[in-house]
Amino acid sequence: MAQDHTQGIGTRCVQAGYTPGNGEPRQIPIVQSTTFKYDTGAGMGALFDLEAEGYFYTRLQNPTNDYVAGKICALEGGTAAMLTSSGQAANFFSVFNICECGGHVVASSAIYGGTFNLLAHTMAKMGIQTTFVSPDCSDEELEAAFKPNTKCVLGETIANPALAVLDIDRFAKAAHNHGVPLIVDNTFPTPVNCRPIEWGADIVTHSTTKYMDGHGTAVGGAIVDSGNFDWMAHADKFPGLTTPDESYHGIVYAERFGQGGAFITKATSQLMRDFGSIQSPQHAFYLNLGLESLHVRMPQHCANGMALAEFLSNHPKVESVSYPNLPGDKYYDLAKKYLPNGGCGVVSFCVTGGRATAERVMAALRLCAIETHVADARTCCLHPASTTHRQMSDEELMAAGVAPGMIRLSCGLENTEDLLSDVAQALEQA
Ligand SMILES: *Cc1c(COP(=O)(O)O)cnc(C)c1O
Repeated sequence: MAQDHTQGIGTRCVQAGYTPGNGEPRQIPIVQSTTFKYDTGAGMGALFDLEAEGYFYTRLQNPTNDYVAGKICALEGGTAAMLTSSGQAANFFSVFNICECGGHVVASSAIYGGTFNLLAHTMAKMGIQTTFVSPDCSDEELEAAFKPNTKCVLGETIANPALAVLDIDRFAKAAHNHGVPLIVDNTFPTPVNCRPIEWGADIVTHSTTKYMDGHGTAVGGAIVDSGNFDWMAHADKFPGLTTPDESYHGIVYAERFGQGGAFITKATSQLMRDFGSIQSPQHAFYLNLGLESLHVRMPQHCANGMALAEFLSNHPKVESVSYPNLPGDKYYDLAKKYLPNGGCGVVSFCVTGGRATAERVMAALRLCAIETHVADARTCCLHPASTTHRQMSDEELMAAGVAPGMIRLSCGLENTEDLLSDVAQALEQA
């Protein structure tokens, strides 16, 4: 995928990934077909052997998905990318592609509840152990988390819902010192506000369900490879990429597809083949519509987030506010470094009176709807302790930065004054 990285982020949002030829459709075609026709069996056989490039079955690849993956690849500044059926699938694939039974992961403890469950419980059952470290841990603590069988480090640029900012530079250096890649889930800031690859991340993942779609339309995910990690230099750690794959007649991914293509080709040809978590072409089309305005929407989400954070930080019924771009926030310095143009529209705050008051505030909101969602055009809110994070013990909750009285409010694209007056009247009533 040749990308023009000199273009502005907005131009890439609108135009990257698909360039129609003369007389071809202006909007990306939805290739609503499960399969593709070939003239000879031998021609199709070459695809099965990964000797030729092309489409043969939509469980592995579809042109519509590839146009959109190409756009996300250009936005993040990567060398290859793929879409998945969900953000969960993206994070699972990104880890499992290089970390199998007997492997070990170092992960930030401040991550999305679903990713925490995936690593702490489901992947543990597959024989993959995870050591969680606070994103604020000391260099010594981070160092101590690594083991000889560590295969990757994982964190979120802005953690959902704790809103901790990952020191990407520091985590990347630690990962690289141990010969493993850093995987960063960049869902919240999107590449409009932060491009983790520029700070040393090797693999970037997304729940495209959030801002990228942005309209609450389609669940989806994406994985982008920076092409910067030298698998061959650490061949003993990553045999899946550096030794023959018997399910493809002995192909060695890192040799055949190079540093820039090996990771995504392996994830597509093994994991998509076997797990089948493909995004539907129809969803990819919706996702692309969202991406076309991502650079226009993000500043408004951020402006609303900042206005709400400022309002809440001066409110007597509010104990604490987390918003990385708010001066005085614990993560303000990291936000200045990694998110100088804004982070996201999500604000977390704790009301005085804990869980009970939080529930009353939620019930009194009119414009802000209670939803298990964030990053939508419409403002929505959630009480994590009783919903997304309810499987966690109190200790795990605190480690993930989730207090019982915390409300996560995702500012949409409404007029700022309407949003503020809704929150004001809800706090007044509670
Ligand atoms: C929502 C979310 C996910 C999971 O994505 P789905 O599309 O819901 O599967 C992963 N990471 C982060 C940061 C998220 O916000």
